[in-house]
Amino acid sequence: MRLSELQNGEKAVIVKVHGSGAFRKRILEMGFVRGKAIEVLLNAPLKDPIKYKIMDYEVSLRRSEAQMVEVLPQNLATTEDETKVHEAFTLRQENFADHPHSDSADGKKITVALVGNPNAGKTSLFNFASGAHEHVGNYSGVTVNSKEGYFKHKGYQITIVDLPGTYSISAYTPEELYVRRHIVNNKPDVIINVVAASNLERNLYLTTELIDMQASFVIALNMYDELQKSGNTFEYNQLGEMIGVPIVPTNSRQGEGIAELFDAVIARFEQQEKRKHVTIYYGNTIENAISKLCIQMDKLNMSHLQFPQRYVAIKLLERDADILRYVQSLSDGNLLIANAEEMAQHIESIQKEDAEAAFTNARYGYVAGGLAETYREVGTNPFLMTQALDKMVTNKYIGFPIFFIFMWLMFECTFRLGSYPMDWIESGVSLLSDWLRGFMADGMLKDLLIDGVIGGVGGVIVFLPNILIIYAFISFMEDSGYMARAAFIMDKAMHKMGLHGKSFIPLVMGFGCNVPAVMATRTVESRNSRMITMLITPFMSCSARLPVYLLFAGTFFPEQAGLVLFGLYFTGIALAVISARVFKRFLFRGEDSPFVMELPPYRFPTTKSVAIHMWEKSKQYLRKMGGVILVASVIVWFLTYFPTHESEMAALDNQIAQVEQSFADKAISQDERDEQVSEFERQKRKYHQENSYIGRAGHFIEPVMQPLGFDWKISVSLLAAMPAKEVAVSALGVIYTGEEEDENAPSQTLQDRLRNDVRTDGTPAFTPLVVVSFLLFVLIYFPCLATIVAIKGESGSWRWGLFSIVFSTGLAWILSFAVYQIGSCFIN
Ligand code: GDP
Ligand code: MG
Repeated sequence: MRLSELQNGEKAVIVKVHGSGAFRKRILEMGFVRGKAIEVLLNAPLKDPIKYKIMDYEVSLRRSEAQMVEVLPQNLATTEDETKVHEAFTLRQENFADHPHSDSADGKKITVALVGNPNAGKTSLFNFASGAHEHVGNYSGVTVNSKEGYFKHKGYQITIVDLPGTYSISAYTPEELYVRRHIVNNKPDVIINVVAASNLERNLYLTTELIDMQASFVIALNMYDELQKSGNTFEYNQLGEMIGVPIVPTNSRQGEGIAELFDAVIARFEQQEKRKHVTIYYGNTIENAISKLCIQMDKLNMSHLQFPQRYVAIKLLERDADILRYVQSLSDGNLLIANAEEMAQHIESIQKEDAEAAFTNARYGYVAGGLAETYREVGTNPFLMTQALDKMVTNKYIGFPIFFIFMWLMFECTFRLGSYPMDWIESGVSLLSDWLRGFMADGMLKDLLIDGVIGGVGGVIVFLPNILIIYAFISFMEDSGYMARAAFIMDKAMHKMGLHGKSFIPLVMGFGCNVPAVMATRTVESRNSRMITMLITPFMSCSARLPVYLLFAGTFFPEQAGLVLFGLYFTGIALAVISARVFKRFLFRGEDSPFVMELPPYRFPTTKSVAIHMWEKSKQYLRKMGGVILVASVIVWFLTYFPTHESEMAALDNQIAQVEQSFADKAISQDERDEQVSEFERQKRKYHQENSYIGRAGHFIEPVMQPLGFDWKISVSLLAAMPAKEVAVSALGVIYTGEEEDENAPSQTLQDRLRNDVRTDGTPAFTPLVVVSFLLFVLIYFPCLATIVAIKGESGSWRWGLFSIVFSTGLAWILSFAVYQIGSCFIN
C-alpha cells in the first residue's frame, strides 16, 4: 500500500521509499526509513500537499511524492520491524589517534562551531553566548551565512560560529556542503551539536554523521524546558556515555545551561589527546567493506587525508558526490572508487536495498536503539495547540483568506499607524530647516545644508516608522512559524509556476529587503527553482520602495493610499508569477524539486526577539541614511547647483533692476512690477535648473522617458535612485527644495511642491496617469545595486546580474509606456 492512500488519522509503518535522486535522499534523511511509524494528519481528497506526522514532528509531502512511499497499515504491522532496528544499536570503541587540532591551543583560544537542525535553537544559543543581537527566524534555513561572535569563558578566548541549519551533512544542498566544508577547512576545535529535545530522533541523525566524521564535539540538549514540560523523561547522561559525547541540557531562550555547556566544551578541548572515539556499527556486510577500503587506503599510501579514513570509506560506499570528487583528485583515487563501487553493489545484493538507504537505516537504527534505553514518553500530545491552529490556517477554504487578511492588515497598519510618527518626524525636519534658514548666513553652505542634506535625507527619514512596522510583521511571521504554513498553502500555486513552496519564503522576505531574500533562495534545493526564485525576488516591493509609494500615494491619492499600496505590491506579485512561468518555459526547463518541508511547532515570538529585529533594522536604515542616501543627496545637490551661469543670471538680474527702476520712476504700477519681477525670477530659476548638470542629464534622457509621461526631473530622480530606491524621494526633495527662492513664502512641503509643479505649457507635471506610470516604473526597474551584487553572488556569475538589470528595466519601460499611452487615449 502507498502512503498517499492512507486516510486522515490512519497510522502505518514505512516499508520502503521508491524513486531515486534528490527526493529519495532527502526523505530518508528526514526519517522515512524502514520500520518507522507514520500518521496522516491532513489528507483531504484533492488536497495537495498532505501533512504527516513522523517521529513527533510534522512534515508535508506532495501527493505524487507520498505515492513513492510504500507502507504497511499499522494494524497489519508487527512490532518485529521496530525491534529489528533496535538490535542494530551496538557500540564499539576504538582508539582515537591522529587528531588534527593539537596545534591550536596556544594563547588559550578555542573556536567553536554550532551545528544542528533548523530551528534547534542555534542562533538563540549563539546570541546568548556572544551577547550578539542577531535576528532569529523560525523556519528552516533562515541562517544563510555563518556569523562569528567572540566572548571569554573560564580564561579562554572563545570564537563561536553560527552555521546554517541542516538535517544532515551529506553534500546535497548548498547549506549542507557549506557546513561540511566549514568543519573540514576551518577545523573548529570543538563543535557544539545543538539538538532539539522536543524532537530527539531526527536531531540525533545528524549526530551520527558527526560521529562518522570523528569530529570533536559536545551536544547541547536544547529546548530542555519543553522536554520537562511534556513530562517525558530522558536519561541524557546515560546516552552521552553510550555515544561517548557529553550532553548538556540547555534553554538558549532563557540562557540556562549555557555556562555548563561551555565548561563541557573546554573540558572536551583539554582532553582531546586522550579521548576515546566511538564508531557506529553498520552490521557485518558493511563493516567488512569499510575495513577492506581502509586497508586499501593504507596500501595506497592514503594516510593523511582531509577526512578520517573510515569516513571516506563510508561516504564512498554511499556514493557521496563531494567525497567522490575529492578521492578522484588523489593519485590512485579511481582505483579506490572502483573497488568501493563493487562493494556497494555487493552490499545491495545482500541487503536488498541500495547502499545509501542501508546506511540511513542503520543510522536511524542506532539512534532508535539509544533512545529506546534512555527515553520514556508519556502519552500526552504536546502538539494539540499547533494542530488546532494548523487546521485553520491550512484549511482549503479559509487558509487563503486568512493569509490575505493578514497581508492587507500589514499594509493598512503600515500606512495608518505609521502616519502618526511620520507626521512628528516631518514637523521635526521642517522645524530644523526653518531654524537653519533663519540662523545661517546666506551662501553655498546654507544651501547645501538646507537643500541638499535636509531636503534629501529628511525626505526619506520620515518613512522610518513605516519600515519598522513592515519589519515587525515579517519578523512575527517568521518567528511564530506562520511563514512555513504560508509556504505550505502556497505550494500548489507555486508548483504551477514551476516553483517550490519553499520559494515562497524568500519572496515574502523580499518585502523587507531584496538582498537577504536573494540570499535566502539558498534553501531552495533545485538549481532551476532557485534561479527562478532569485530572478523574480526583485518584483517583491522592498521597504526601500515604500517611501516612494507612500509619498506619491499620499500626495495624489490620499483617500485610497492603502489600496494603492496593496495594488502595487500585488502587481509586483503578479509580475513575479508571470515571469516565473516564462523563465520556467524558456530558461530553466525540467527538474522539479521535492517538497519535503518541516512545519515547526508554533512558538509565540518573544517581544525581545521582535524588538531586537526592529532595532537592527532601524540601525541599518539610519546607517543607510548616513551613507548612500546622504552621499547621493549631496551629489544631486551639487549637480543641481552647478554650473552657476553667472553671466546669464547677471543679465536677468539686470532686467529686474530695470523693472525696479521703472517702478521707482512711477512708470509702472505696483501690480505690474510684482508680476514682471516674479516672471524674471521664474526665468532665472528655470534657466539655472535646466542648464545645471543634472538638468542637462535629465534633458539628455528625457526623449527616452517622455513616452512614459516623465519630464526631466522625474527622469533624473529615477537615474539617481539606482543605488537605493529611496534616493528617488531624496533626489526629488533636493530638486524641488532648490526651486523655492522666495524667502517670505511659507515653507512648502515636498507634497505641495509636487502637486503644484507645472510643465512649460502650464499643465500639471504630475497627472494621476503620470503618477501611476511612475510608481509602476519604480516598482519594476533596476533592482538596487546591492541586490544585483547578491544575485551575482548566489548565481555565481555576473551574467545573471546583468540579465536581471536588462530584464527588469526593459519590462518597466514597456509597462509604463503601455499604461501611459493607453491611459492617455481614455483620460484626455
Ligand atoms: P536555529 O534555526 O537553530 O538558529 O533556531 P533559532 O535560534 O532561530 O530558534 C528557533 C525558535 O526556537 C525560536 O523561536 C527560539 O525562540 C526558540 N528557542 C530556541 N531555544 C529554545 C529553548 O531552549 N527553549 C524554547 N522553549 N524555545 C527555544
Ligand atoms: Mg539560525
